Amino acid sequence: MFDTKLLRPTRENISYCAELIKSGEVVGMPTETVYGLAADAFNETAVKKIFEAKGRPADNPLIVHISDISMLKALSGDVPLLAYELAERFWPGPLTMVLPKADKVPLITSGGLDTVGIRMPKSALARELIDACEVPLAAPSANLSGSPSPTSARHVFSDLNGLIAAILDGGECEVGIESTVISLEGSGVRILRPGIITKEDLMTVSSTVFIDDGVLSEVSKDQKAASPGMKYKHYSPKARVVLVDGSLDKFLEYAKSHADENTYLMCFDGDRVPGNFNTVYYGKHSFEQAKRLFKVLRELDDLNAETVFARVPDKSGAGLAVYNRILRAAAFEIVRVGE
Ligand code: AMP
Ligand code: MG
Repeated sequence: MFDTKLLRPTRENISYCAELIKSGEVVGMPTETVYGLAADAFNETAVKKIFEAKGRPADNPLIVHISDISMLKALSGDVPLLAYELAERFWPGPLTMVLPKADKVPLITSGGLDTVGIRMPKSALARELIDACEVPLAAPSANLSGSPSPTSARHVFSDLNGLIAAILDGGECEVGIESTVISLEGSGVRILRPGIITKEDLMTVSSTVFIDDGVLSEVSKDQKAASPGMKYKHYSPKARVVLVDGSLDKFLEYAKSHADENTYLMCFDGDRVPGNFNTVYYGKHSFEQAKRLFKVLRELDDLNAETVFARVPDKSGAGLAVYNRILRAAAFEIVRVGE
């Protein structure tokens, strides 16, 4: 058990967190996407602690975070030109590239795969911490496996208090959902997990961009997934979440006949909802929805919601990422109610 410290991002605290990581501990790290649970990517024992603290399945690989392009070579011996072109355009930023793994990266970090996901975060604080550690940091989202990703230091504390040494508090995450994960196929790109860097954004660098089938459909546990994270239950509050797809009028009609006192409606800002419903709001446009989604899913737990009827977000552009997360939070349960 640890007496988990919540630390303001002062220079001393950054150095302290770096010392913890260098000595093989794990630390909650702010990034622009969500908080990460960081350890030295080359230290097997330290990386094992990440899996233990989160209760993460061993075959679910970690993303390795770098602060400088020079770190790339130590992680992947075979970096194609396209990866450098994408890095030039999108790093630092919320894009993870899956590349062939160098031998130096332990298999525990890559979930047993011969590839490794690599990203350079935009968050200056994250990069300062990586710099201070002088090694790339393996860091999955800093939540308990399966629960909504953490977008504030408080969220990390509420999931991992006592299980990790410290959390560096960098305030609320600017983006709010995880990075876009891609693999490279010759001169083409495959999106394994959508994020706010969209297909259209990627097409400014590569003319061929595919969206993997696993992004919008269910991948069962015994199926081979392009990206192991696709297989697992994700982002779930305790409540059963149901996506109710249709106009606001039809959504409210459905809610009227199916809601009870422990049901919450998850609506868009600006929706006019009668006052007799319990309602939470998760933004109007895709970027706001991305930023608020996980926070609202956690609030629903605090409210002891048993059932949540959620409006279906716009799926275009960055909206695809919001839809991908809420679809998993709903365990793919959708009711279509019409326009
Ligand atoms: P998290 O950091 O918790 O958002 O999880 C990282 C996710 O990135 C994993 O669940 C995988 O889906 C994906 N990922 C990381 N590394 C790889 C890899 N080598 N191959 C395919 N997907 C990966
Ligand atoms: Mg995660």
